[in-house]
Amino acid sequence: MFGKGISRRDFIKGAAASAVGIAALGLVEPAAAKAEGTPQEITTTAERPAGKVDGKYVTRAIGHESYIYVATTIFEGKITACQVLSHEETMGIGNYACARIPKAIVANQSINVPNVRGCSITSMAVKRAVKEAIEQAGYDPADFSAEVKTEVVEREESAEADVIIVGAGTVGLVAGARLLEKGKSVILIEKRDIPGGSMAMTYGGVAVAGCELYKKYDVTGALTNSYYGSVENMMEFWRNHPFLNPEYDRFDKAMPYMTAQYENTGKVIDWFTGMGIGINPLGYYEGGLQTGYTPYLAPGCYEGGAGYAMMFLEQRIQGLGGKILYGTEATELITDANGKVTGVKAKAGDGASWTLTGKAVLLASGGFMRNAEMIKQYYPEYEGQFFNCASASTGDGIKMGLAVGAYMECTGRALPAYLSTDASKFEIALIHHSTPGIMVNARGENFGNIVSDNHYKMAAAKLALEENGGAYYYVFDDAAACTNSDFDGYGMNTYKAIFEKGEAVKYGSVAEAVEKLGLTNLQASIDANNAAALAGEADAFGRKNCPYIETRNGVWILKVDPTFYLTTGGLAIDTATHVLKEDGSTIPGLYAAGDVTGSIEEKDGKKYGMGFDAALAYGYIAGETIDAEV
Ligand SMILES: Cc1cc2nc3c(=O)[nH]c(=O)nc-3n(C[C@H](O)[C@H](O)[C@H](O)COP(=O)(O)OP(=O)(O)OC[C@H]3O[C@@H](n4cnc5c(N)ncnc54)[C@H](O)[C@@H]3O)c2cc1C
Repeated sequence: MFGKGISRRDFIKGAAASAVGIAALGLVEPAAAKAEGTPQEITTTAERPAGKVDGKYVTRAIGHESYIYVATTIFEGKITACQVLSHEETMGIGNYACARIPKAIVANQSINVPNVRGCSITSMAVKRAVKEAIEQAGYDPADFSAEVKTEVVEREESAEADVIIVGAGTVGLVAGARLLEKGKSVILIEKRDIPGGSMAMTYGGVAVAGCELYKKYDVTGALTNSYYGSVENMMEFWRNHPFLNPEYDRFDKAMPYMTAQYENTGKVIDWFTGMGIGINPLGYYEGGLQTGYTPYLAPGCYEGGAGYAMMFLEQRIQGLGGKILYGTEATELITDANGKVTGVKAKAGDGASWTLTGKAVLLASGGFMRNAEMIKQYYPEYEGQFFNCASASTGDGIKMGLAVGAYMECTGRALPAYLSTDASKFEIALIHHSTPGIMVNARGENFGNIVSDNHYKMAAAKLALEENGGAYYYVFDDAAACTNSDFDGYGMNTYKAIFEKGEAVKYGSVAEAVEKLGLTNLQASIDANNAAALAGEADAFGRKNCPYIETRNGVWILKVDPTFYLTTGGLAIDTATHVLKEDGSTIPGLYAAGDVTGSIEEKDGKKYGMGFDAALAYGYIAGETIDAEV
């Protein structure tokens, strides 16, 4: 049973001395990664044994964000233990797979366990690392690959609550927790295996005006007269903002939807901080964080803050007696003879057909970015585009609402995009802050001012891909490579996987990059950018504070792809979240909030900017409205 060089007694002895108990060690090494020293950087490549060698194997595989390190113990033909040792996956998404997949592998003695729905990439990475461990131990992965399926028992189930919520994403969790606190009974239906929807993917900042937190913070009074100081100040700022599009401004700058948003985001932040959801310290700290006055959910921007807040809300819902039906897809609304919505039908992956009845139904099922048919219908200009977002955003709630007479609005508008890496579609939306550089097209020409109005510049770049030669590259220097991994502005180290995944490539000189990638005009673009940087002037595209790119020691090039990620259209609602018909009348019993209603800003005629803030605010409003009416 034990292969050459290790006896059963030696193994047990070694395993007991846990600090030195790694009987064998070898890591899955992608071609591009070259690091040494710390556990994060181990480069040992174990030779495959001739026979079977039991022991604890530490292997790693690239997940969504970075390497996932896994320890797998194999003993007498069985996987006796499996644990993710470290990971940097998105909190609120990948962590669920890191916790669940190892347990499932040990329980089933198989790496062919189902992915956790909602975090498939991480699930598959953990399985790859365990497969590697099996091979390193001299076993055949085929012997650990029996397919494990969820048991399906077709049956009818029913349940009743005051409020049925479709979707346990941003809105569902906020509204659910709020309603439970107010004493209502709540059932949430969630089609994935994990909560959160798009929440954990957001940067975790919340634009707030005039909240209690600010009053406590603002000892100098500096914020009082700024747009942070009050809803009035904030709305005055937006009323005069160039993003307000007169063509869509049906309320003549009154902006009722955004006003309601700002009247409530402050309440959300005060509610969050009051119950223990942390935020980063506000302000600017010398040599430290520079996050300003926007509250970022702790531990920080793109650092898992939104994920932790999300998991906090989910636990609060469970703790207050709320029920969440995971792996269960809502399929249609139930109405009575008067057209009042009285419940939801849903189908679970375990075979249960649910009939859920309630006094109110809240649609909180997100947008329709991943529904190609709906994109074609409502955004023909974007037909066939890839949307880099949660795959569960398939417009189910919109279709259910339309089926009972709801009205769809704000479709066909310009869609924003953010920058992703080309190969793995890894989101790098704020790279122009953390890793200052320039974006060039396939001819090496500077694409323009990517800092101001970034999301719409990215969208324009994507739509003009062909005329730009079919590819874009992000160009930066060693200094930017340093700040990429520790950026004071937001405290992020989120994009270091561009190096670990081997997508950012260092060329010895600009000339080498030009030759290898065909970026003919790259040197001229860098020269023009550097001239503006040294002069302290805006470049030809109006970009201020251009980053000087030092190429003496070579240049970093990252192939990038601007990706769309959301839609602006959705169900019409009033500012209290009642779902509206085309004639403006409400559908009794039916409420909706978040991406299922499209962009709150677009309803007021402003270009889409912040869906997360709107979802938090309108989830909160939905809780208040339903509590008052049910
Ligand atoms: C990649 C990405 C990054 C983003 N970054 C930012 C940002 O930095 N700042 C910002 O302001 N906004 C950002 N947004 C937008 C913001 O995240 C969303 O506007 C907001 O989270 C939407 O919340 P929601 O509750 O409406 O939808 P979601 O959070 O998407 O939740 C919808 C939930 O409904 C579930 N569901 C769907 N259909 C069904 C069904 N039939 N039955 C049961 N459950 C169902 C889904 O699985 C999901 O859990 C981002 C969005 C994406 C996609």
